[in-house]
Amino acid sequence: LIQLYMPLNHLGVLYREIRQSLTDIERMFSLLDKNREIQDAPDARPLFASGESGPCEIEFENVGFAYEANRQILFDVDFKVGAGETVAVVGHSGSGKSTLARLLFRFYDTTTGSVKINGSDLRALQQASVRAAIGIVPQDTVLFNDTIFYNIQYGRPTAPREEVIAAAKAAHIHDFIERLPDGYDTRVGERGLKLSGGEKQRVAIARALLKNPPILIFDEATSALDSKTEKAIQAELEQAAIGRTTLIIAHRLSTVMNADEILVLDAGHIVERGAHRALLEQNGLYAQMWALQQQQNMIEA
Ligand code: ATP
Repeated sequence: LIQLYMPLNHLGVLYREIRQSLTDIERMFSLLDKNREIQDAPDARPLFASGESGPCEIEFENVGFAYEANRQILFDVDFKVGAGETVAVVGHSGSGKSTLARLLFRFYDTTTGSVKINGSDLRALQQASVRAAIGIVPQDTVLFNDTIFYNIQYGRPTAPREEVIAAAKAAHIHDFIERLPDGYDTRVGERGLKLSGGEKQRVAIARALLKNPPILIFDEATSALDSKTEKAIQAELEQAAIGRTTLIIAHRLSTVMNADEILVLDAGHIVERGAHRALLEQNGLYAQMWALQQQQNMIEA
């Protein structure tokens, strides 16, 4: 019986792993509106030689993009994120911010222009090697119905326990986990303990830290976190961004103040760019958005 049990048990584990990753891929794709498969070119190269990784420079070169032929979403978008730098994108809802992240992850190809990493067009690179170099902290993190340990380790399934705990500490969620009834073995997700928006974002930051990618995309949660949690998450994000090339899709301007460059998108065009102070001095769309947000903060306070 035991001889029969072992392979069956192994199959069970395998099935669970596949299902978990499919759930994740499925959910992640629906989250990012994935609807089309992109294939590697026959002569596609890996971003780095096998086993290696290193600093990454991102470049959007005159990018135009349309999901549907008759409705252009991005127009001539041109910017660079130097290795280790942080660029933030702000703009009204529907201006095209998340579309930039989808193009960088190559869920879609650009209609005109190109997206490059370290000078190579994404279309010349193996997708898997590009995605391995990118960590995403999404707006709404998916938690598996499993332990919180499993949920963090998912960032790098081969990571030893000490490294999972170190990532949780760096994302400032370790103390919270220690206070849970079963610590790291506490079950979370839809059928387990429900985590708050801030706690879920910390799990996502811990996952990303464990993956240790040279590129980080932070898609800020649209749902409001309380201002104390928001400040804490912002500090944790800034820590996570050190030494990584970071693209922040921002919904609140407080998150972007320290970015090396802020891009203001309006209906798919970059209408302003610069650092926070310089943009305020321009007295344009960014300054208007800033003033509006200050008013809202005063009303909420
Ligand atoms: P928000 O701040 O609300 O998240 P955003 O600036 O990130 O908005 P995007 O999600 O990039 O905006 O969307 C830009 C435009 O592209 C919107 O008009 C949206 O309706 C359209 N769009 C997004 N995804 C698709 C899709 N899969 N198919 C067709 N149109 C899409």
